[in-house]
This record gives sequence, structure tokens and C-alpha cells, in this order.
Amino acid sequence: MLRKMMPVLFVVVVLMGAAIPALAWDDTGHKITAYIAWQRMTPDVRERVLKILLAAPEDSTIGTYHFPYGSQNVDARKRDFFMVMATWADLIRDRNFDVRMKKYHKSNWHYDDQFWTLKDGKIEYLKAPEDGGQALKRIAEFVKTISSNAPDSEKAVAIAWLEHLIGDIHQPLHSSARVTDTEPKGDQGGNLFSLTPKDTPRDKQENLHWFWDSIVVRNIPNTKNACDIDFLEPLAKDFMKKYPFAKMQSRLAVSDPASWAKESLTYAQNDVFSSDLKRGEMPSDKYKKKGLKIAEERLTLAGYRMGEIFNQAFGAKPAVASADAIPCKIIRKVMYPVTQTSSVKQTLEIALLDLCPTPGMARPMYSLFINGNMVMKEYDVVRTFKTDAEARKYAADNKIADVSF
Ligand SMILES: [Zn+2]
Repeated sequence: MLRKMMPVLFVVVVLMGAAIPALAWDDTGHKITAYIAWQRMTPDVRERVLKILLAAPEDSTIGTYHFPYGSQNVDARKRDFFMVMATWADLIRDRNFDVRMKKYHKSNWHYDDQFWTLKDGKIEYLKAPEDGGQALKRIAEFVKTISSNAPDSEKAVAIAWLEHLIGDIHQPLHSSARVTDTEPKGDQGGNLFSLTPKDTPRDKQENLHWFWDSIVVRNIPNTKNACDIDFLEPLAKDFMKKYPFAKMQSRLAVSDPASWAKESLTYAQNDVFSSDLKRGEMPSDKYKKKGLKIAEERLTLAGYRMGEIFNQAFGAKPAVASADAIPCKIIRKVMYPVTQTSSVKQTLEIALLDLCPTPGMARPMYSLFINGNMVMKEYDVVRTFKTDAEARKYAADNKIADVSF
């Protein structure tokens, strides 16, 4: 087999560097985001994340959502566990599990509101009252926790929160508190903005916040009562097709969640409170469709960002070379396109390439000629060396195939 390596593309992936609104995205939204993140996570990172989640404190009940048996294959059960975890922060609101709720539930972690109003048609920002929500603060803390030496039990809770909060902060109404004469203290992310007439019985009332939380199923209901994955997977795949990673990766801003919240707020100001929105009336079909389009982009971006954050925290760290170490020689994991599930039991191979991974390019991409065909592959860089001799010795000592040419 003729194998020739051509470092045609060496890029990709910014890895290292990165009122009480009710639920924020419903189950569907959160699980779609987690599904997309899972597609972006490397096999090693998936395993690490699962292992940590299973080390969660017993009273969090996190481990109880993982089913070691079932009709699905093992990989599917792992993925589904990860998807359910994106809703854990809502599951713990359940008062029937009083101990868990009191210990873990934090309603003001789910949003981070900017207070604003319209004055003469222009947006004016207002001083926030004491508590406008803590989502951004908590995301920053949890990202720090998962990259630290904290015990896995602590990291497990942080992962579950991150899975949820990264989704929440992409919901336009989770960063917005609009102040009007009707809602002088802010509209609590649209929770106080009723879409049903005043005399509507309580159980029939609808508000703007929940309308946006559930925007996907309002447009695409699960009419066949399909199970989660049968319903969600085609949706997630469709969203990823509409917003491919390659097109979105320049917008990841993994280390700047405040910018994600700002995007959400802009959608709230321009699209949620558009001129056709009326109090006491359900929004039009046109408005609903616009909402779906926005949600498709927001949920997909949230998934890509989540995947990168976990890859960054748990992925193999390249031994980053300093400038004087260039050129470096690389050991890398053999091929997997990250969009496909593949075994974590990958063998290592060594390729002597004069390319150095950097914090911003931890996952190089190469095109290879294999049997006369050009194939694009992505890799994890596991280790770098300064000299050929050093790399070859390591390869020989560790029985790692040398595919250099
Ligand atoms: Zn939430």
C-alpha cells in the first residue's frame, strides 16, 4: 500500500485556547444540543466524560440515568445518557425528590439577563437589579472545574450543569429582561409577557418564554410519538447540515461565553420582540417559523461550542512546542473523522511531519494518498518530538507503527 502524507491542510478547530425563567429550551432543544456536541467530541473525550459522570455523587442521581442494559448498542446508550444529562438541571427541580432539589437546584443559574428598554425607538440599557442571573458566572466556574484537578465527583456535577447552561444561554430570552410600563422591573425573560388573553384559565395560559423554549416542537411536533433518538436525531442532523461546523467554527468563541449571551440578546431585541408580536395573542405562523430558524442556528452553535469545550478540557493535550522546538515530529492517533463514531481502541502511529500543534490547532487535518486516493483525516496529536531520532526511538520502544515516508 502506497501511503503518502501531504500536510495540505493544517488547521481546524479552535480547541484550547474552549422573575424566574422556567426551563429554557425544553427537553428537545437541550437534547439536540447535546447530540450535536457528542458528534463533535472525540472518542477518548466521550469516554472520559462518561467515566466522570458515573463518578457523580449518589445524591445527585446522575448515575441513575445511565442504563448498562437495554435494547440499544453500548455506544447508543452512552450517547443517550449524555443527552439526558443536558436536562439534569431541570430534572432536579422535581419536588418529589426533595433532598436532591434542595441541594442541587438553583433557579437563577439558568439565565443571565441584561435589562433593557426602548426609548424613542432606541435600545437603552438599564442597571440590573441585584440578581440578573448567574449563568455566565457559573459557566466560567464549571469550565474551570472540569479542567482542574478537582475530584471526578465534582467534575461530574460541573459537566451536567455545563451541558445545560451552554444550551440555556443560547435561548434568546435567557439573556434578556425587557423593561416596559407593564413590566417595570423587567419581564423575566418574557415569562411575564402573556400570549393568551387575561381571563384565560391558569392551565391554558401561555407566555413568550415558554413559546421560545418549545419553538422546535411547536413547528415540528413529535406526532408519531417516536422515541427520543428517532425523533431528535434527524432534526439534529438536519440542523448540522444547515449550519455545518466548517462554516460555524470561526464563530465558536469558546473562551468567551459572554459573546454567546450577547448574540442571544440581539435576537431577543430584534426578532423575539418584533413589531408583529402582540400581548394576549398567539404569534403568527410566520413568527413561529422565524423562531424555528433562529433556534436551529442557536442549538447547533451551542452544540458545537459544547463539544469544543469538552474536547478542550478532556482531549489529549499536545505537548506544545515552543518556537525554538519547530519543526516537531508528531505521534498521532489514527484516523477517525470526528463526525463518526469510532472505536476508542485506536492504535497509535507515528508520522514524522514538520508540523507543530499549537493551542489553536490541536487537531490537525491531513490529506493522505491511500492506494491512489486522496483521503482527508483528522487526528488527535498525542505527543511531539524535536528530532526524528527521538520520535523513532519512542515508536520502536512502544511498538508504534511508523508511517512516515
Ligand atoms: Zn435551564
